Amino acid sequence: MKLTLILALALPLMGQIVPTWADADGRATLGYCIAQPAPPDAERQIEAALKEWAKYVQIDFRRDMCYSDRTLTFSWVAAEHGCGVLGTLSADARSHAHWPAGASEEPIAGDVHFWVGREWTPTEIYIEALHEIGHALGLRHGRDPWGVMYDIASGALWLQRSDIEAVRRLYARRCFGVECAWGLNR
Ligand SMILES: [Zn+2]
Ligand SMILES: [Zn+2]
Repeated sequence: MKLTLILALALPLMGQIVPTWADADGRATLGYCIAQPAPPDAERQIEAALKEWAKYVQIDFRRDMCYSDRTLTFSWVAAEHGCGVLGTLSADARSHAHWPAGASEEPIAGDVHFWVGREWTPTEIYIEALHEIGHALGLRHGRDPWGVMYDIASGALWLQRSDIEAVRRLYARRCFGVECAWGLNR
């Protein structure tokens, strides 16, 4: 009786557990697609952002058909675009992402929406994509103000230690740089 009461109080505080795309070994193969029309250079910036995450974990991104299952589709959309709970886009909220399948319905799971109502520089596309891909992989906001996953854009161009640790809790580690020499592949 006592235990039930404690659990009932604790669960809302822990929040909803976000599922990931990982298989039993912690690996994932995911599609990606940049829906047209997109700003010039969008493809290169988004691919660079995907690569940055895949440096540290065993996720392989492969080009696939837009709007298919297990595919991160990146699209430029109007403020009101009917994507559900995430609501409208604006100057303050210029992009957002859907959680992995299980928390989000397919085929929209993992999709990233950018607001079409502004000019996007290549660097802005990269920085926003880097953050939104984190959500699309199942990461929540972090507390590190320098981290990519901080809720206010830190402007970080590379994943910070806090981001790397967070994503490696969800997916199997891929060694990077000196880690590989130390044999830390897992
Ligand atoms: Zn949306
Ligand atoms: Zn965010």
